[in-house]
Amino acid sequence: MNEKIALIEAGGTKFIVGVGDASRQIHARTRIDTARPEETIPAAIDWLRQQGGNYAAVGIASFGPLDLDPASPTWGHITRTTKPHWSDADIAGPFAGAFGCPVAIDTDVNGAALAEWMWGAGHGTGSTLYLTIGTGVGGGAVVGGRLIYGVSHPEMGHIRIPRHPADTGFAGHCPFHGDCLEGLVAGPSIKARWGASLSELPVDHIGHEIVAWYLAQAAATFQAILEPARVILGGGVMGTPGLIERIRAEASAASNGYFAGVPQEIIVPPALGENTGLLGALALAKRGCRQLSLLDR
Ligand code: ZN
Repeated sequence: MNEKIALIEAGGTKFIVGVGDASRQIHARTRIDTARPEETIPAAIDWLRQQGGNYAAVGIASFGPLDLDPASPTWGHITRTTKPHWSDADIAGPFAGAFGCPVAIDTDVNGAALAEWMWGAGHGTGSTLYLTIGTGVGGGAVVGGRLIYGVSHPEMGHIRIPRHPADTGFAGHCPFHGDCLEGLVAGPSIKARWGASLSELPVDHIGHEIVAWYLAQAAATFQAILEPARVILGGGVMGTPGLIERIRAEASAASNGYFAGVPQEIIVPPALGENTGLLGALALAKRGCRQLSLLDR
């Protein structure tokens, strides 16, 4: 039960690599800057070998988009990304080859959603949606104990939402859609509009009102689709003091009492703190191994 599990939180700017076990202990961790795949992935493998190797499983929570079709010849690869050098990169294959054990891979937000449902702010609920608002915007949802998928993982950051009346002059920052949710509230879109991060803007700057309003529209949209027991909002932008309270207030106005529950209980911050990424990788590894009956739940 306490066999070692290799954990990788693969991000666009850094890889956090760790060693954990099925009881949720993280025994060691390191940070590797994300360079080219042919540099970063071998560096992660070398570090994991230095920790003794012999892993029961590998869990990878990665930036995406990812090919997650188990029947696809490019399963575990990044697909098309705006990050230079990483389109079509094989993330899962090198770890499987290096350690000869099962490899579970999914998006970082699906990993975080699963971990927050298993152990964090969504624990004990039947349905949890996790949304991260940082360099990009992404989301995942657990319903009835399972992450939801269509033909691929969800792309919740790219929904369309109404424009704030005081924000109509901005074209949006998403390279694919312009003013989708990510194009309006991710960190780069805030910098592009107002020249600073949200937390750097004065508390009375209208940016706070606009970003909270957009995220409230998004929360109300996801409530309309899923009626999740929790909408967990994480990521760097959510570190802005007072933002979650503004979102709850705007969400109350947007939903007009129509949805189940009250925003104060449903819209919550993550509970797993800085370990969310590695615990996401661990949750994915445990889920993968449970499907293969390799580790105890
Ligand atoms: Zn988009």
